[in-house]
Amino acid sequence: MGSHRRLRVLKFGGTSVGDAGSIRRAARRAASTASRQRTIVVVSAMAGTTNLLLQTACAAAARDRRWPEAIEQMRRRHEETARSLLPAAELPRFTRTLNQALETFESMCRGFALVGEATPRGLDTVSSLGELVSAELFAGRMRASGVRAEAIDATGLIVTDDRYGDANVFIEPTQARLKRRLLPLLRRGLLPVVTGFRGATREGVPTTLGRGSSDYTATLLGALLDADEVTIWSDVDGVMTADPRLVPGARVIPRLTYGEAIELAFFGAKVIHWKAILPVMERRVPLRVRNSFRPSVPGTLIVAESAGRSAVAAVTAVARVRLVTVRGERSLGPVELATRVLGWLGTSGVHPLLLMQSSAEGSLAFALTHEEAPALAGLTQQLFHRHRLDGVVLHASQEVGLVTAIGAEFRHPTDVTARIFGALARRRVQVLAVANGPSGQGVALAVPPAMLGAAVGAIHREFRL
Ligand code: ASP
Ligand code: MG
Repeated sequence: MGSHRRLRVLKFGGTSVGDAGSIRRAARRAASTASRQRTIVVVSAMAGTTNLLLQTACAAAARDRRWPEAIEQMRRRHEETARSLLPAAELPRFTRTLNQALETFESMCRGFALVGEATPRGLDTVSSLGELVSAELFAGRMRASGVRAEAIDATGLIVTDDRYGDANVFIEPTQARLKRRLLPLLRRGLLPVVTGFRGATREGVPTTLGRGSSDYTATLLGALLDADEVTIWSDVDGVMTADPRLVPGARVIPRLTYGEAIELAFFGAKVIHWKAILPVMERRVPLRVRNSFRPSVPGTLIVAESAGRSAVAAVTAVARVRLVTVRGERSLGPVELATRVLGWLGTSGVHPLLLMQSSAEGSLAFALTHEEAPALAGLTQQLFHRHRLDGVVLHASQEVGLVTAIGAEFRHPTDVTARIFGALARRRVQVLAVANGPSGQGVALAVPPAMLGAAVGAIHREFRL
């Protein structure tokens, strides 16, 4: 496709910009890419910053008097990093950005303390301030090394709805803004350093795209601007066949399909946000995951075509999953039951890992991660109190571990599921629930919490991963 396709998007995660040394390394890497082709950088906040911002906002809302100290902590860390990273000439510009961010932080916290509450809208304004500051640091560092870089706030680029904390992107207006605001910079030979995680409503109210979603910012830019590759620079060697803490023999997978990567990310592989796969999958842009601390490792390439190896590519594990079974009262048909439960899940903003439904029994089960526990507590409380919710009765709620075997070739060989069950039976792993995804790219099994490691190991070994 001609030279306009020569665009690279590089995303650096929180640890890759976690201190002065890491930013220096990342900026050098970006400079070397930029010397060869047009480049856009997307950055996360410095590691730990987003958590600090959110915790501080909640502390302020709870009228815990220690919140001003957290603001000072954020100032000190960024100032120290800037002093070791930027020449004197770059400091005023950085300090302006930092002060602005801290002023917003402080006035928002004051507001939260005053009303004794932090609204989702207010939290979004606060939680993504770290990206504004890290982008300015990164751009300043690049300019110091002779690259014409410019920090860009993505609230002017990414248009979203107002689902705060997990906003949905409107593709067309976003693409129009990218073409209008980002392409001219590239044409002038500038390197944009874009804040990850942030967006804004049409009215300009800041939103965020979900925790860990800077990956998504990068793939969105890459897909909408027709990049020839998006590279996610993180702190691991790539996507692994299993969590190495559970399976010592786990290795990096050199190549995955988009479909496999989505399933893997969704079911517990922390290395990339599952949402991030969608834009590049749609536009067929190759996505690479690499370790910024070990650049000699080639990492994982995520593309459309399968590498055609064993039916199972990887096994994931999610610990502390809540498996909830509900039943409908006699008068409630299976479709009604599903409608009510899905309606509740939708309004509570939770993302069930899986849903299983049996019409004959009039029951439905769903699995939620422990992060969704507060929302779940709300539901179970209602169920327990009134013992029913519009004809829906809580039947069981148990903690399980969720193990998922994933592979693009899963659908074809007839013996894959049999081998999985055989391997688990030999290790005496009890299977509490099974969900065979309609994507045909994997199977998820709920097992007793204590058996999670054994289950992952057994499947990993069975398929010689
Ligand atoms: N800083 C944000 C977070 O920690 C976004 C990201 O790092 O991807 O969730
Ligand atoms: Mg992060």
